Amino acid sequence: MKKGERVALFPGSFDPYTNGHLDLALRAAALFDRVVVAVAHNPAKTSLFTPEERVNLIRESAHGHANITAIHFVGLVVDCAQRVGAHVIIRGLRAVSDFEFEFQMALMNRRLSPGLEIAFLMPSQEYTYLNSTLVKEVAKHGGRIHGLVPPVVEKALLAKYGQRAARGAGRRK
Ligand code: ADP
Repeated sequence: MKKGERVALFPGSFDPYTNGHLDLALRAAALFDRVVVAVAHNPAKTSLFTPEERVNLIRESAHGHANITAIHFVGLVVDCAQRVGAHVIIRGLRAVSDFEFEFQMALMNRRLSPGLEIAFLMPSQEYTYLNSTLVKEVAKHGGRIHGLVPPVVEKALLAKYGQRAARGAGRRK
């Protein structure tokens, strides 16, 4: 980390990274010197993509934006922020429904680390309805996800569900 550099941490599950997440990362990259997209690895939760896969997809989607990097972490967001030298946490607000949970978490994180600021950014209107769960559900049933996720994520989703479908077909025989 360089002296005086303004680093923002953008934490989340990113299972997988959507165009809504990318929209936010790009907005943050225009405001800060460096944005670290941090994939939260919660071993108690099942995820479609491994933390390493999620990090790679974020890195590949950030192509051309050298100040966006990706890592994965276990544990508290505030500890991860300290490790990477971030003084700001970025979170997204899509609708009023996001507010209550985000507000609680922001106040808790500030209590845990008083020097930390939490900044909320709003995505472009076209991504306000988008979330990873919905994208997975559509992809799983063969719906069109083009334009909802970066091209590398689209390919990875098709590969995952293609493989699963093939395994399922094998079992049915
Ligand atoms: P988490 O499990 O921590 O909520 P997510 O991957 O779902 O992780 O989201 C990470 C952050 O990105 C959250 O602040 C969430 O509000 C924001 N986010 C998710 N989807 C969008 C979207 N379509 N537009 C803008 N922000 C989003």
